[in-house]
Amino acid sequence: MAEMAEMSGRADLHLHTLHSDGVYTPYEVVRRARTAGLSVISITDHDNVAAIDEAVVCGRELGVEVVPGVELSVALGDKDVHLLAYFFDPTDRNLLDYLTFFRLERLRRAERIVEKLNKINIPLRMESVLDQAGIGAIGRPHIASALVEEGLTETYHEAFLKYIGTGAPAYEKKFQLTPSDAVRLVARAGGLTFLAHPGKATTETELLTLINAGIDGIETVHPSHSETQQAHYRRVVNQYFLLECGGSDFHGGKKSDESTLGAYTVPLSVVEHMRKRLFR
Ligand code: AMP
Ligand code: FE
Ligand code: FE
Ligand code: ZN
Repeated sequence: MAEMAEMSGRADLHLHTLHSDGVYTPYEVVRRARTAGLSVISITDHDNVAAIDEAVVCGRELGVEVVPGVELSVALGDKDVHLLAYFFDPTDRNLLDYLTFFRLERLRRAERIVEKLNKINIPLRMESVLDQAGIGAIGRPHIASALVEEGLTETYHEAFLKYIGTGAPAYEKKFQLTPSDAVRLVARAGGLTFLAHPGKATTETELLTLINAGIDGIETVHPSHSETQQAHYRRVVNQYFLLECGGSDFHGGKKSDESTLGAYTVPLSVVEHMRKRLFR
């Protein structure tokens, strides 16, 4: 009976904590996931696996299975594409070294962005950005929040539009792997790689390039996807014998997405298909 109940449960495989740009601790995310009725989750912080240990332990206590996850950024031409990785060994030395390097590069890039802002007379201080990031892998969301906090822009979105979005005056690229290098890095650590939220900006040509680079699957369920997009990506998944994943991309707090937790889920069969692919 317990097994039956579990098989009818739901999974959210895209969650952030304060170890990247989310606002809650791993414990708090697991607790909220439990309240939202989820039975399997994955925390997918940007370039960081620091949430996993705590989440696994809390999950065991609260009856939520926690699958290892991480969100990586890769360069596809001029574009920044996000990949989600699951089921890798979170103690894999090579993967951990890469993640540490990526986080260091994020810090250096934040410093370059702040310098650029200062040059165009936006007096943002790096300390203010570091305050926003806390212990998390530093990213543009923290810079946007710092700009709002310091009263230098009206809104979070305006910060991207006017200053730090792609092509804006204080935009800076971050160091990125190619898609195939990222797929290889994750595979070497025993994991599977998925294209995250393709509906946001990925063209069909780019999608094919990523499939050729060896991604294992595509994120079909995401708040940014319409029903039509969801169905389209599911057809692509079936056509190329890929796997699917999905979730809420929950960050919590000010980003006003509190209600997304529990609203963007996939059935547990999705997780089972991943497991089967791992033990091929
Ligand atoms: P980073 O990894 O530091 O380049 O930051 C990327 C993150 O910034 C994305 O995952 C989004 O959460 C956020 N972001 C990027 N562009 C925009 C935008 N135009 N408006 C709002 N948020 C954005
Ligand atoms: Fe994020
Ligand atoms: Fe993303
Ligand atoms: Zn995300």
